[in-house]
Amino acid sequence: KPTLYIVSTPIGSLKDITLRAIEVLKSVDIILCEDTRVTSKLLDAYDIHVPLKSYQKFNERSMVLQVIEYLDNKMSVALVSDAGTPLISDPGFILVDELIGKNYNVVSIPGASALLSALVTSGILTQPFTFIGFLPRKLGEINKVLKDYVSRKESLIIYESPNRVQKTLSYMLDILGNRRVSVARELTKKFETYYRGYIKDILETTLDTRGEYVIVVEGSTTSDVKIEDPVELVLSYMKQGYD
Ligand code: SAM
Repeated sequence: KPTLYIVSTPIGSLKDITLRAIEVLKSVDIILCEDTRVTSKLLDAYDIHVPLKSYQKFNERSMVLQVIEYLDNKMSVALVSDAGTPLISDPGFILVDELIGKNYNVVSIPGASALLSALVTSGILTQPFTFIGFLPRKLGEINKVLKDYVSRKESLIIYESPNRVQKTLSYMLDILGNRRVSVARELTKKFETYYRGYIKDILETTLDTRGEYVIVVEGSTTSDVKIEDPVELVLSYMKQGYD
């Protein structure tokens, strides 16, 4: 049955690819990728010789028809992205949505994704969590997104570029308060680094302005509203009617 395979590829270390992913990439008739140069490197490393076709945000819609044509001609297709799992802050959603709507076969060949690696090494509650992906660029819009999470308890996962990570953390401090975070840099790569602690402390260290970052932020806890002064605490209890 002609199938669209959503294939995860490494997020850094070339070895982070599954045996099944290699098998499927070798078996399909065409591989849709973002940057053909990036994917060629991976294919060369695993001796895979399958034609590549560029699939990007700007041609996502027009490529849907092309993919349908491949599948109708009994060709199987794999979708990969430059790194990690396609559709996760990467193109592919429109294609998957359209193909499912038309009853085509869509399956996943799972593997690396930066969000899960960052979450499981964060020391921050792993359930429930919300994956936000990239925040908007403008402060007003960032504010709108983060404001919704001020009193929510789930952990938040955010993708960020190296030149904005410091700024984003300071916005988070203003909007969400001084929460625990884990900032993971260059996961699975040579300069893999984790900055863990409270936002204020992390902001005092110098974050490298190179590489790729994931920020994991603790959800709202009662300690966000903790009252430090014991006299104030007693007074607040009295006000609430405790004795
Ligand atoms: N599809 C990818 C995935 O499954 O993780 C994400 C693609 S998105 C365009 C790229 C962003 O993912 C980067 O800006 C960074 O936030 C995060 N990322 C990808 N690889 C990473 C790595 N090795 N270390 C840290 N963050 C990474």
